[in-house]
Amino acid sequence: MNSPRPGDFIDIHTHGASSSPGIFRVEVLMAHEAVRPVEQRGIAYAAGIHPWHLNEADRSRLTEFMRSVAEHPLVIAIGEAGFDRLRGPSMELQREVFDEQAEMAEKLGKPMVIHCVKAWDEFLSAHKRLKPTANWLIHGFRGKKELASQLLSRGFYLSIWFEFALRPESAGLIRFIPADRLFLETDGADTDIRDIYRKAAADLGVSTDELKITMYNNYKKFLGVRS
Ligand SMILES: [Zn+2]
Repeated sequence: MNSPRPGDFIDIHTHGASSSPGIFRVEVLMAHEAVRPVEQRGIAYAAGIHPWHLNEADRSRLTEFMRSVAEHPLVIAIGEAGFDRLRGPSMELQREVFDEQAEMAEKLGKPMVIHCVKAWDEFLSAHKRLKPTANWLIHGFRGKKELASQLLSRGFYLSIWFEFALRPESAGLIRFIPADRLFLETDGADTDIRDIYRKAAADLGVSTDELKITMYNNYKKFLGVRS
């Protein structure tokens, strides 16, 4: 089963996930680890070349892995992929490999999961250059409302950085992002997605069950499935 049910808690971005009743997870397969998707209840996959683990020497091996896995039916999205100015190779190499992955996603009609650190100009110009029709989700978001607004106006989905989501000061941002563009994640940290849902539901003044339905609908829209 690789689609969530309406009553599930959806963890849109995680690492090292295992099956757990009532939780649906999108597990990230990083190309440098070359782990292939395995059918498991409540788990779907995103596969991508992470900028931290990209270098010229491994480039063709990583791209080869992506070609071998991108079409797999359990792989629902391409990523995490993106840009990082603090860690990773030159922006040129990051750009080339990002473009290749975005083209792969576009060809397959799969959405993308984006990692972006201190490289929003690079990322936004990639989006302008590539003009994707598939949805893109920015994971681990913890920026200011101005940045959120800029990203929302380009049509992106935003998933809040787990640690920030749990802090009281994230309430403003959680309320600011339209509920139909919001996602929640654990990013593989030792954090319970159910606690993140409870906190966000309280910020939004809705019940956890209502938030589950919103996220379920968001998931379907993110994948491009019309309800
Ligand atoms: Zn991650």
